[in-house]
Amino acid sequence: MARYKDEQCRICRREGQKLFLKGSRCYTDKCSISRRNYAPGQNGQKKKKLSEYGTQLREKQKTKSFYGVGEKQFRKYFEMASNKKGITGDNLLQILESRLDNVVYRLGFAASRAQARMLVTHGHFDVNGKKVNIPSYLVKAGDVISVREIKKDSPIIKENVEVNASRPVPAWLEKEAEKLSGKVVSLASREDVDLPVEEHLIVELYSK
Ligand code: SF4
Repeated sequence: MARYKDEQCRICRREGQKLFLKGSRCYTDKCSISRRNYAPGQNGQKKKKLSEYGTQLREKQKTKSFYGVGEKQFRKYFEMASNKKGITGDNLLQILESRLDNVVYRLGFAASRAQARMLVTHGHFDVNGKKVNIPSYLVKAGDVISVREIKKDSPIIKENVEVNASRPVPAWLEKEAEKLSGKVVSLASREDVDLPVEEHLIVELYSK
């Protein structure tokens, strides 16, 4: 288990950024990025100059890790983003933000996106009053996400609500902490995304 936990931090260290993959620990000074902000491995402290392709690839890998999405699904999101009106990079980030596991995490009902995925899969949430257990489900403006009645006493949900009470909720979501629910006021815009990413590099990578 300890090894698995380290794996998460190694991803952040490789990208040189906090990707918040481990829940509450990420907000403490125990965070590996706070203590050892260099890439893992023997040559981790040596600065490497990346090629254009390497830079584009790192942006994609970082974004996939942040949202916990595999290559196949990420590529599918890119196709969806390209087919939508507007800027492809903005569309891509909006789609990723709209995933139900991300929304559950953003509302503070889960400590991390990985835990949100597990909670959704185990049937802890309703969307508009109906159980949805698909983490990749894409929410729409107006949707209401709530903890299912029979899961409201779940210790893990109670702990998350308490621990994350002061974690800010993005402007595109509205949280009703007492009802253990949240509403999608509008879909996320580029300004709402707090991942430091140059999404145009991902678009360039996939457009080759
Ligand atoms: Fe580990 Fe820090 Fe990354 Fe969290 S943000 S996964 S604690 S390195």
